[in-house]
Amino acid sequence: MTMAFDPKLFEPSPEPEIPPGIDVEAEIERLRRTRNAVILAHYYQAPEIQDIADFVGDSLDLSRKAAATDAEVIAFCGVRFMAEVAKILSPDKTVVLPDARAGCSLEASCPPDEFARFRRAHPDHLAITYINCSAAVKAESDIIVTSSNAEHIIRQIPADQPILFAPDRHLGAYLARRTGREMLLWPGVCIVHERFSEREIVKLKAKYPDAPVAAHPECPESILTLADHVGSTSSILRFAAETPAKTIIVATEPHIIHQMRKVRPDKTFIGAPGADGNCNCNMCPFMAMNSMEKLYVALRDLKPRIEVPEDVRVRAVQPLERMLEMSPKGAPATDLSMIGEHRETVSADSPVG
Ligand code: SF4
Repeated sequence: MTMAFDPKLFEPSPEPEIPPGIDVEAEIERLRRTRNAVILAHYYQAPEIQDIADFVGDSLDLSRKAAATDAEVIAFCGVRFMAEVAKILSPDKTVVLPDARAGCSLEASCPPDEFARFRRAHPDHLAITYINCSAAVKAESDIIVTSSNAEHIIRQIPADQPILFAPDRHLGAYLARRTGREMLLWPGVCIVHERFSEREIVKLKAKYPDAPVAAHPECPESILTLADHVGSTSSILRFAAETPAKTIIVATEPHIIHQMRKVRPDKTFIGAPGADGNCNCNMCPFMAMNSMEKLYVALRDLKPRIEVPEDVRVRAVQPLERMLEMSPKGAPATDLSMIGEHRETVSADSPVG
């Protein structure tokens, strides 16, 4: 099933006009200091944004970072729901998103009023919700999860407790298979991970028989059955670094390959293709809306700001805090020292994913 989305969802904000003579990178550095700002970036951001960030990570890493930072300004280079999480967890801080139009197909496929109706129709179910959703949907949820911690958290729920899972049906189905739990699934999709082509991956595997496939659980089951490793972005990154294989086929948003090449310049990473045999069609159009120029303007003008209505924030913070409490503790770090270029590394209790 392919979902139809409003084409307006894919329209970025216009690129800002930068006055001549401005060195955007130097200005970002200056503003980072003068604004007491921290720049957080997701692995799916463009390489130049990853390279200028104080911290690069997956959704869980970034949530933890947003909750713990003492910076006054958080410049969130990711998509809107991630910046909202930063605002929910750090309400006194100014949170800016370089392009306020940077949404997510999973967020768009789960309108809050429809989700609230779904919940009311299943009052005995615990609502476990993937972090890729709006603040308003989080406010209607019992526990938020990321792909790093979802299985660990679901395994803590008593076996007789019915669960509904939203909004990613592929991640939900994967978790149901992993945990042996039946779950009611919301039918949302990530348009990026849905596009990988089973036929093209089979062709790649034939061409590179020693190359393992690492896939994100937002992919459909037909792709995951071809994978040698399934995990969150941090987990895929770690697998790519640690596997003895010299060539790895990567079935997630291809910008993560930037970090893989930094960690293991001796290895070859191949982005899994879509149906046209090209991996570029799997780039996230929402993550791509951010640019260095928009980041500069966001730090300069302190907008676009992300705001969450206080009544929504107060309800949304509870399932997020439950997530942080129920996440794995003392697991091996996402060892970003091996990733090298980060200004700061993930905390020691970062999950395995
Ligand atoms: S990759 Fe998929 S889940 Fe992630 S932001 Fe893009 S559309 Fe949303």
